[in-house]
Amino acid sequence: MLTVITIASIVVIALFVLSALRHKSLKRKMKARLGVKNDLDKCVYCGACQKWCEHKAITVSAKMWKCDDSLCSRCIKCIYHCPKKSLSLVNIGV
Ligand code: SF4
Ligand code: SF4
Repeated sequence: MLTVITIASIVVIALFVLSALRHKSLKRKMKARLGVKNDLDKCVYCGACQKWCEHKAITVSAKMWKCDDSLCSRCIKCIYHCPKKSLSLVNIGV
């Protein structure tokens, strides 16, 4: 009887761990697929997005804009504050 209970407990714990790992993996995949994209035809390189980014993911200099996806938290503050509405959150396919 004790063996049956032990095996059942191990199975329940294993299922719980597998479910938690699967959820974590899905969450990571969903996050990795979104990224900030800039329409450079609209951008005036004012640097407002860089200023608002608390994660220091955006770098703006003369006619250069880049976003480090590994630092970006997808908070969309940069998108909200861009005066030219040139930023958007898109699927970057990774
Ligand atoms: S806030 Fe908008 S216009 Fe200004 S640098 Fe950033 S993306 Fe370009
Ligand atoms: S979405 Fe947030 S973290 Fe990502 S670049 Fe914009 S302000 Fe920075």
